[in-house]
Amino acid sequence: MATGFGFTVQATDGKARTGVIETTRGAVRTPAFMPVGTAGTVKAMLPESVRATGADILLGNTYHLMLRPTAERIAALGGLHKFMNWDRPILTDSGGFQVMSLASLRKMTEEGVRFSSHIDGSKHMLTPERSMEIQKLLGSDIVMCFDECPALPATDAEVAKSMRMSMRWAQRSRDAFGDRPGHALFGIMQGGVTRALREESAEALTAIGFDGYAVGGLAVGEGQEAMFDVLNYAPGMLPEDKPRYLMGVGKPDDIVGAVERGIDMMDCVLPSRSGRTGQAWTRMGQINIKNARHQNDPRPLDEACTCPACRNYSRAYLHHVNKAGEIIASMLMTWHNLHYYQELMQGLRDAIAGGRLAAFVADFHAKRAQGDIEPL
Ligand SMILES: [Zn+2]
Repeated sequence: MATGFGFTVQATDGKARTGVIETTRGAVRTPAFMPVGTAGTVKAMLPESVRATGADILLGNTYHLMLRPTAERIAALGGLHKFMNWDRPILTDSGGFQVMSLASLRKMTEEGVRFSSHIDGSKHMLTPERSMEIQKLLGSDIVMCFDECPALPATDAEVAKSMRMSMRWAQRSRDAFGDRPGHALFGIMQGGVTRALREESAEALTAIGFDGYAVGGLAVGEGQEAMFDVLNYAPGMLPEDKPRYLMGVGKPDDIVGAVERGIDMMDCVLPSRSGRTGQAWTRMGQINIKNARHQNDPRPLDEACTCPACRNYSRAYLHHVNKAGEIIASMLMTWHNLHYYQELMQGLRDAIAGGRLAAFVADFHAKRAQGDIEPL
């Protein structure tokens, strides 16, 4: 396993864990939420502002960066950390998921996926070996195996066939990654919503051996209940002493439910993307700042929130700048959402450490059930 990378579980409460991932670029407190910096930026945020919300690690997208500005250009300019001015840990995905969701003219074979860029139609090939090469050029601290995530619903036979190819790709990723001190490689469990296939996938990955393990193939439209059904058993199939990462999750209540079930890391575009469309996430649930009820409201989004949007601006102002299409609307709403997500993670970590997760979760759901403050 990689030197310069480690994971320590410091406390557990039920299945939930809190601990720390050590990397050469700094520590990541878990459970961790990773904001998504798709194209070398968390949209509408300066890196120091992202850090100020409490984020220890960012996610970068291989698919976007390989097409524009290209991994080779980023490497020539000193790597992704320097290029985007973020000196803390970065995790990159393998590109596999986004090829399947964004690229056109895809052709998948055992070798990999051939596709056309959604930007300019240029032709590319992603294989486990090329994905490892790109993630190395980017200089990411945590590299993800190249895998295929089948769209659900799919038959058991389709999911099994896809999962077994992903396991062969996991071995090829491991071989191509080689020995890179200070850099970790994570395997990705597949198998859809079928327990026996999840078991088979976990056994195949564990036999290969990785620095961490992701639960892949969820948050692809199966719904929260089906996702939690899988999370009731899947994390327990993975090595206890390695971080477990749930990819692409999620809404605040998805995150809380995943942490309760033993997940250590998550990422999602939701807090930043919804910030740009006028949606705020608070302790009281979801708020649509575009709603006319906010236009004369001098109160902050959440009076208990210490982010700049809540400390210095009213709902009326946020409503106005959103309506007017001002860039500051995206900046403030994104800042608030990322701040809320990181505060939620800190609350979860403290609750697990203090052995009071059940009370924390009950309070989380009670506040959301109450809903937003009454209009003036
Ligand atoms: Zn706020």
